[in-house]
Amino acid sequence: MTSGRKPRAACLIGWPAAHSRSPLIHHYWLRRLGIEGGYVIEAVPPDEFQDFVFRLSLRGFVGANVTLPHKERALALSKPDERARAVGAANTLWYADGELCSTNTDVEGFINNLDACSGGWDKAEDALVLGAGGASRAVVFGLLERGIRRIHLANRTMERARALADQFGASVLPVAWDAVPDLLPRAGLLVNTTSLGMHGQPPLEIDVGRLPSGAVVADLVYVPLETPLLAAAQARGLGTADGLGMLLHQAVRGFELWFGQRPEVTAELRAVVEADLTNT
Ligand code: NAP
Repeated sequence: MTSGRKPRAACLIGWPAAHSRSPLIHHYWLRRLGIEGGYVIEAVPPDEFQDFVFRLSLRGFVGANVTLPHKERALALSKPDERARAVGAANTLWYADGELCSTNTDVEGFINNLDACSGGWDKAEDALVLGAGGASRAVVFGLLERGIRRIHLANRTMERARALADQFGASVLPVAWDAVPDLLPRAGLLVNTTSLGMHGQPPLEIDVGRLPSGAVVADLVYVPLETPLLAAAQARGLGTADGLGMLLHQAVRGFELWFGQRPEVTAELRAVVEADLTNT
């Protein structure tokens, strides 16, 4: 284990080491809270990942975030909590009593951001989730944990929606992509977990005018910051929750586990990350 005298440090393990906002977020919190600590990016190829993780503490790290392509492997090499197991991927590692533990913080990132932006969203009886990839699993698990009764899951590849529904049980109802317009009038919560609407991707064609008047719309895409889906929902006066908010909220738990203080997602932090997103 690391010596208590050294400043604590965590890292983000990925391959390739893509540009990430995580160092910006964690350095901001370290500075704000006056904690002497560090957070660095580690480029680790797949064939070196196991060794890197087994020697994480010897390398001086108290924990790590894990990103593509290592998230499934991280789950297998650690003691996962229920969230990581349900999502099938771990994005956060830390030590508890000398044991390497893991979780998936996208679940609470999504839910805590909704709570912060659109309190009361969980009164929705029917949620409509678009997409059935990795992010969708975190969203669906979070909605189930929160007690949403019916989750309609639409995906371009119906088979993936079926597989996800099979795993999560009878509250998750797989539907064909072309059934989306007919489901909108009963969706108290609409969530886009596809990459549609992201810069460089095709647009997401949804008529938010068909949603009920009290509906809440969440979009996981954060480039652009304001997606056309969220802009249309706001223009209609609906509650919204954006992808950047989820990204910030998902970082809270790792920081708390590694550095011992629970940081806050503030307007100032958001402005710092927004500026970085706008400049790249
Ligand atoms: P993924 O596993 O690759 O899944 C991509 C999803 O998008 C699949 O459901 C896929 O459908 C769908 N899709 C892609 N192109 C499509 C198209 N042309 N038409 C219809 N559907 C299409 O990716 P992921 O990890 O779930 O990430 C999905 C999005 O969430 C990305 O934009 C990512 O940046 C974002 N995200 C944001 C956060 C955050 O903190 N804000 C966290 C995680 C992810 P098929 O199954 O048919 O291919």
